[in-house]
Amino acid sequence: MDKAVRTRYAPSPTGYQHIGGIRTALYCYLFARHHGGSLILRIEDTDRSRYVEGAEQYIIDSLEWLGYDCSEGVHVGGDKGPYRQSDRKELYAKYAQQLVDSGNAYLAFDTAEELAAKRKDYESRGETFTYKASTRGDMRNSLSLPKEEVEQLLADGAPHVVRLKVPENEEVVVNDIVRGRVVFDSNLLDEKVLFKSDGMPTYHLANVVDDHLMEISHVIRGEEWLPSTPSHVVMYKAFGWQDTMPSFAHLPLILKPTGKGKLSKRDADKLGFPIFPLAWESERGYREIGFFPGALTNFLAFLGWNPGTEQEMFSKEELAKVFTLDRVSKAGARFDYEKACWFNQQYLMALSDEELAAAVASFAPPEIDIPKEQLLAACPMVKERMTFPIDFWKQHTYIFQSPMDYDPKTVRKKWKDNRAEQFQELHVRIEAMESFEVAALETLVKGYIKEKELGFGDILQPWRVMLTGLAGGPDLFKLSVFLGKEEVLKRMTTAMSAFDEMVAVQ
Ligand code: GLU
Repeated sequence: MDKAVRTRYAPSPTGYQHIGGIRTALYCYLFARHHGGSLILRIEDTDRSRYVEGAEQYIIDSLEWLGYDCSEGVHVGGDKGPYRQSDRKELYAKYAQQLVDSGNAYLAFDTAEELAAKRKDYESRGETFTYKASTRGDMRNSLSLPKEEVEQLLADGAPHVVRLKVPENEEVVVNDIVRGRVVFDSNLLDEKVLFKSDGMPTYHLANVVDDHLMEISHVIRGEEWLPSTPSHVVMYKAFGWQDTMPSFAHLPLILKPTGKGKLSKRDADKLGFPIFPLAWESERGYREIGFFPGALTNFLAFLGWNPGTEQEMFSKEELAKVFTLDRVSKAGARFDYEKACWFNQQYLMALSDEELAAAVASFAPPEIDIPKEQLLAACPMVKERMTFPIDFWKQHTYIFQSPMDYDPKTVRKKWKDNRAEQFQELHVRIEAMESFEVAALETLVKGYIKEKELGFGDILQPWRVMLTGLAGGPDLFKLSVFLGKEEVLKRMTTAMSAFDEMVAVQ
């Protein structure tokens, strides 16, 4: 790469930050890191009608949580700022004027009503109206109206916009790193509004001007922006900036879990997985569910990219080393929440006991207070059975409280014959133990099973339900020692009468 790599993540603070936006930020980050370049966070807030309070901070918080460090941006500053477009608004008028003066843009006086009427007229004929080279002659603009009329309109202060003038009969080529050479017919391109009558630039003008002024080398963004790119290419040429025009890479769509159609917020609501990185209003985010930033990053990296090897687990640093845009796929990437959970589980398994205990502690329900050492002892027992730290509190409640109910299937199946008597006996033997340790307890219980010529399941399964309420769980001997003799005996006594009642009502 001969010029310094500078990528930018340029979200609009319209509130709704799809997880797809985070994937864009990640790819921008990884690409910049791979080349020792810079990631810039630019806030594109020129459309004030869609502005949502708090959305900018939300974007910053999301990037910070995930650790996608920016070298420059609205939150960290930099020498090519300001990085918020509303703070740059004085700048754009000059560039719009430059295009008008060089004959690459024109003033359009069409009112909203006139444009609506035009669209309606086309629709009635089954066509779609586009403001373009072949139709602009029928509209009210500085190219179609006599010069004096334009001057009069301006003198009267008639509201107007600036539109891009697209050259006729040309091929506009977008050399996209992901999609290859994409050719557009200039005659079909709409002549986009660049500058609005309210004195604000549109996305198209501000985006191109800022990418130029901020010396962006690579524009990496979602595929939905590909249709706008030929207009941007026309603008780069019109400004005379074609030599420093950034390279483009349009990322594949993120598809619904079924693989059919674009992932929408509704899919997430319906299928019960989050669409936001962090909680937003009443919606929970990946962070609140207990995703580790590294796991979410690992998952998102694979949503449209692969390393070309079998390796799946990558830290952010490892990803930055191997990430290249030529391994980004053209085809849409199917969103697979199960896979995201799988990554989280792998990350959870890799935590040290101390780290896991700390993560679990941060999700502790306010009403439960477990001493730190106890958490530290309990976590390794259930680690393999957890996907999220909160699972500890939701699925493994027996660690800190007696079971409220018991797995009815096991009770029905196993609480028969002389079981009640045998457990009475076992209770007595456990009570008599001098040192309550894992090996000793195991010898005692297994010895008892052998002595009575029973199957392991005959005793161990109901015993597990007595202690945990559940049919499956951690090593019973370790769990018992963790709970302590007294608690084990207490749980056995309570369960025995509960089991009797359960089978009696059958
Ligand atoms: N502001 C645009 C957005 O919200 C950015 C598109 C681009 O990256 O050029 O997605």
